[in-house]
Amino acid sequence: MSRAFNFSAGPAALPTEVLEQARAELLDYHGTGMSVMEMSHRSAEFIDIAERAEADLIELLDVPDDYQLLFLQGGATTQFAMVPLNLLGDKSSADYLNTGSWSAKAIKEARRLCSVNVVGSSEADNFDRIPDPASWSCDPDAAYLHICSNETIGGVQFQEFPEFGPSSETVPLVADMSSDILSRPIDVRRFGLIYAGAQKNIGPAGLTVVIVDKALMGHARPGTPSMLDYAVHAAAGSMSNTPPTYAWYLAGLVFGWLKAQGGLAGIELRNRRKAAKLYDAIDASNLFQSPVASDVRSTMNVTFTLPDAEMDGAFLAGAGQRGLLNLKGHRSVGGMRASIYNAVPEAAIDALVDYMGEFEKDSQS
Ligand code: PMP
Repeated sequence: MSRAFNFSAGPAALPTEVLEQARAELLDYHGTGMSVMEMSHRSAEFIDIAERAEADLIELLDVPDDYQLLFLQGGATTQFAMVPLNLLGDKSSADYLNTGSWSAKAIKEARRLCSVNVVGSSEADNFDRIPDPASWSCDPDAAYLHICSNETIGGVQFQEFPEFGPSSETVPLVADMSSDILSRPIDVRRFGLIYAGAQKNIGPAGLTVVIVDKALMGHARPGTPSMLDYAVHAAAGSMSNTPPTYAWYLAGLVFGWLKAQGGLAGIELRNRRKAAKLYDAIDASNLFQSPVASDVRSTMNVTFTLPDAEMDGAFLAGAGQRGLLNLKGHRSVGGMRASIYNAVPEAAIDALVDYMGEFEKDSQS
């Protein structure tokens, strides 16, 4: 068996140890004579799996008691609608910051449901930066302010979460953390709501995690379908209908793995080291370039370009021959992207940096 170095943006690499444990438990989970996939979500065994996963996630992210953790379906894309449906309350508009493709998709969906005030945008700069918070035109009467903490396609990430003027006292901050949740410690209290699709740092696709200030629940717009109402899911312990049981179980294994890595402080150190190796190689090169301003470069999705897009094919083919897979940039922006989530080992970055050096040398000869 060989495991490739998988730089996929998502669904993405999972820790080998987690997959090995899942394999060992696949046919007969803890003497039950069945797979977790075959179990009732109401069984004592699955309730135990679910509760352990929740407790571990609360511990990892230090989620305060007055926040509700939800394990949902529908991906982050469904949250683009659930956030306005649940958080608008009696307000008619929400603030959004536009830092790239995923912010733009959230904005487009919110516009179906409310008036959207775009507080700032880096679109004119090809989304290579995050607009200075001092320039954001926040509305003190907005229902919430939405940001994307890490733009998966552009590779632009908030390094810290800024205050954004007087409205930060009263306007809840909502963050799409799909591609950098669990990559570093965060202060959950800074946010009214955090959401993330699972398929990068949490587990397999099919599960969506939401962490919401309990005070913000229970005000869904009249007529909101019950499956889109956070309060309905909270009341049912995220089992309002059949949950994605196997994805939930695998996420639990990932949380256990993360705890064994020293929790989020431990994984952050490793993530910073991995990203620095790759950005240092890009900066030292005369061939590869980073399209992102140095103070907002993502530790999760490292985008880079060659001087001539014609060279991309040769670079990607050579990478594939070395087992360095899924380095092609998103089709909307081109270039290359190495997604180096928690489960991507440092050896993968070392192999990529070696290959980039070789490619550069060969291109000069
Ligand atoms: N937001 C971000 C930042 C993402 O990276 C993605 C998926 N790549 C999404 C939202 C959409 O997630 P999903 O496919 O789970 O709906």
